[in-house]
Amino acid sequence: MNVHEYQAKAILKEYGVPVPKGHAAFTPEEAFAVAKELGGPIAVVKAQIHAGGRGKGSFKEPEAGEKGGVRIAKSFDDVRTFADEMLGRTLVTVQTGPEGRVVKRLLIEEGAAIKRELYLSFLVDRATSRVAVIASTEGGMDIEEVAHDAPEKILTFSIDPASGYSQFHGRKVAFELGLEGDQVKQCVKLIGSLYKAFVEKDMSQLEINPLIVTEKGDLVCLDAKLNFDSNALYRHPEIVALRDLEEEDPAEVLASRYDLSYVKLDGSIGCLVNGAGLAMATMDIIKLYGSEPANFLDVGGGATKEKVTEAFKIILSDPNVKGILVNIFGGIMRCDIIAEGIIAAAREMSLKVPLVVRLEGTNVELGKEIIRNSGLAVIPADNLADAAEKIVAEVKKAA
Ligand code: GDP
Ligand code: MN
Repeated sequence: MNVHEYQAKAILKEYGVPVPKGHAAFTPEEAFAVAKELGGPIAVVKAQIHAGGRGKGSFKEPEAGEKGGVRIAKSFDDVRTFADEMLGRTLVTVQTGPEGRVVKRLLIEEGAAIKRELYLSFLVDRATSRVAVIASTEGGMDIEEVAHDAPEKILTFSIDPASGYSQFHGRKVAFELGLEGDQVKQCVKLIGSLYKAFVEKDMSQLEINPLIVTEKGDLVCLDAKLNFDSNALYRHPEIVALRDLEEEDPAEVLASRYDLSYVKLDGSIGCLVNGAGLAMATMDIIKLYGSEPANFLDVGGGATKEKVTEAFKIILSDPNVKGILVNIFGGIMRCDIIAEGIIAAAREMSLKVPLVVRLEGTNVELGKEIIRNSGLAVIPADNLADAAEKIVAEVKKAA
């Protein structure tokens, strides 16, 4: 789960991490008021969307001005003008895709005098089962680009969870970043605080780009991007409360409400499957027969009639879906219950695309009978290959 920059900075601040003073604003008047409270002389107006690259981004509407999603304001009136230009307009960055994101919130911050821009991030490294630390002197830029063009400028190491953070980790980063004097001390403290926040809040990613050295010589986190492990959210209600559903794909939001694992893809065949492994196999075999899956969807082991109905709705909300393949193994879940769910959903949705159903497992005969007797134009299949071949053929026929 992602949060906005202003929320990320508030969390880090609780851990004693140095961030600029600032506040969120939802209207130009609020932005003006925040700037006044900060006192100036310089304020930064930052678009809050769940995507980076805002500084170099551009707005779709010409009225939004040409200055991107991070603007330096030299007066309180400028803050109001910039806020007015940005709010409600669509910001396109390298990370938003061509459709962009509508800006609904802003962060108004005190301006920082930048001497150097550095890069720092933490992430869960699955290969070593540890928290990896990545640091580079090339801050403010796209780190993938640095990794490609100048990999020697990136320091990577991991922290052993058993022994945890030690000051030498911080000194290693300080040395790599070319810090000196009191900055080394600040860096040791910073890395320690970030590590503590990362572990305690169950983050999967933390990126500070840029971490700056100010003209005065202090370290400040000028940008912050946090990602939280969704499997650990149950123990962080304070993080869940920060969720901004408007930043997420509506179908994925609906799916998470019904505890369905759904990922939208670009193909034309909707898949309704139970079990992640079976879902992967189903997607593979659709490709093998020459078509593309429209989604990954795992209804889970305990799928109810309601869940199956919602799953159908979610699949059909995607206009690219030209056919549906249901592939269910009734283990804990009985095939007759699944069959009833499929029929209820197909009726409720007045299904207009071909539907191939492959059931296997407990009560399979009863399940098939329920589908046969439903009067719906469901195409039964006997095994996975048969099912894939049939749905691909149906979709090609309709095209
Ligand atoms: P991103 O483009 O979405 O990653 O947004 P950032 O928060 O990283 O801002 C982009 C760039 O704007 C930074 O790399 C800085 O160069 C610049 N910037 C942001 N805040 C300030 C500030 O307070 N003062 C100055 N001078 N530049 C800033
Ligand atoms: Mn940034």
